[in-house]
Amino acid sequence: MNGQMMQQPLLISSLITHAERHHGEQVVVSRRVEGDIHRETYREMAVRSRRMAKAIAALGVQAGDRVATLAWNGYRHMELYYAVSGSGAVLHTLNPRLHPDQIVYIADHAEDQVLFFDLSFWPLVQAVAGRTKTVKHWVAMTDRAHLPADADKLPGLLCFEDLLEAQDDRYSWPSFDENTASSLCYTSGTTGNPKGVLYSHRSTVLHTFSISMPDALSVSANDSILPVVPMFHVNAWGLPYAACMNGAKLVFPGAGLDGKSLYELFEAEQVTVSAGVPTVWQALLAHVEANGLKFSTMRRTVIGGSACPPAMLRKFGDDYDVRVLHAWGMTEMSPVGTVAAFKPVHAGLDQEALYGVMSKQGRAVYGVDLKIVDENGAELAWGTETSGDVLVKGPWIIDRYFKDEGGDPLVHGADGDWFPTGDVARMDADGYMQITDRSKDVIKSGGEWIGSIDLENIAMAHPGVAMAACIAAFHPKWDERPLLVVMKKPGATVTRDELLAFFDGKIAKWWTPDDVIFVDAIPLGATGKMQKNKLREQFKGYTLPTG
Ligand code: AMP
Repeated sequence: MNGQMMQQPLLISSLITHAERHHGEQVVVSRRVEGDIHRETYREMAVRSRRMAKAIAALGVQAGDRVATLAWNGYRHMELYYAVSGSGAVLHTLNPRLHPDQIVYIADHAEDQVLFFDLSFWPLVQAVAGRTKTVKHWVAMTDRAHLPADADKLPGLLCFEDLLEAQDDRYSWPSFDENTASSLCYTSGTTGNPKGVLYSHRSTVLHTFSISMPDALSVSANDSILPVVPMFHVNAWGLPYAACMNGAKLVFPGAGLDGKSLYELFEAEQVTVSAGVPTVWQALLAHVEANGLKFSTMRRTVIGGSACPPAMLRKFGDDYDVRVLHAWGMTEMSPVGTVAAFKPVHAGLDQEALYGVMSKQGRAVYGVDLKIVDENGAELAWGTETSGDVLVKGPWIIDRYFKDEGGDPLVHGADGDWFPTGDVARMDADGYMQITDRSKDVIKSGGEWIGSIDLENIAMAHPGVAMAACIAAFHPKWDERPLLVVMKKPGATVTRDELLAFFDGKIAKWWTPDDVIFVDAIPLGATGKMQKNKLREQFKGYTLPTG
């Protein structure tokens, strides 16, 4: 027997429709690349999103087509979140920190039809525009007065505000199957080329419910949320959706991610909750500390993307009365999987013990099932000291990569299909996961991936190098940076500086390894593969030069 409730697909457009109707007066504040602070209400944002939906249709975008962005966190970017996905097309948020070659590869792979960009990325757009195969229209996310003086370098360049002006908002969001693709993010956190993760309307709306809950990110109409995490990193962890679902105020920092700009915005807009990777908080805390400042309204901050250093959650708690919510997830998980919110079992613990709980990555949110397995795939019991591979499943976890890149990524067992995260962790007796290592061969620096294999391939192309392994080494500012371990060819005289200079122009500058260590031999396994886990162990205590 079926239930007798309305059949209503879970669509992203329903979030902006709800915000418009029930929180129409709530504001979205943005620091613009044009330099000023911009404010608009959800009512205004909804109107502009509908006009933009018509504008992209007028450009020839059809259901399922990919529309790309190269943009900071701001209201125009959010309008595209709703205009593109809401109209049935797929929003593809490109990461502007990647090398232009990678951006071209990704835009071609995604078959992007239109690319919207913030003015900061005009030089990048000029570097890639002649090389992409499918992009038919380039749109500067500004008004006519702020178009670049040399706009004629890209014939046919369009202007966001002109596109809007040409339309009215007589438009009804279409209804379609909730499993329709809504947005696409590429991750470099795997081996090989970046891979696309294609979210659906259903997965996005369900994830939005889940992250809104009190023991997750706890999003309320009374919050003022400043997502420092970029909208090109897994949709800013879902906050642009959760803000609409809950009617929260949103504050977008644009390109101003330094400590001073962020602090000013926190105070001026009475921000209560924020979210970002540990690196950004270091800059903010340094600014606040150096100037003897306090946070007058901020009470919570979500930290994830990399492990939150225990000293950071202590500093936030002890010195600024800000509760850190340590969270873990990944692009393939939409992204939120666990949050370190307390349980009754923690009542009565002293502050030090509570910090101990908070420094773990936390417990699974509803919707994400999680288990830790040994090398034979057998589940490890909670409360054991042994670490194993973290496997997840749930309605907002990836089933396969875009265009089936890399084949079937899942582990199939008697208890269903699981996605192996590439993280290694142990689980305490209360179900709080603690990441202890990573089995995937990548390095995460300031929240961004660096492909160790790409770096090894370049190093090994040097005539003096016999073998090179690239591993993550601890760095006080960036969390991890690449360390190159090199075995020279017999008689070769290559030096550290020569080798580092060899990377120039071959990769984004920030990918260049921070240091080179020459060794007599690199440990190899039975199949001849480099045993990088042994090297990681060997250089565990190694601190990179910070100069
Ligand atoms: P991304 O797909 O770029 O979001 O990266 C996801 C990966 O970042 C995870 O698989 C982890 O390796 C790492 N990560 C994310 N959050 C945390 C955290 N709280 N602690 C440790 N590692 C994390």
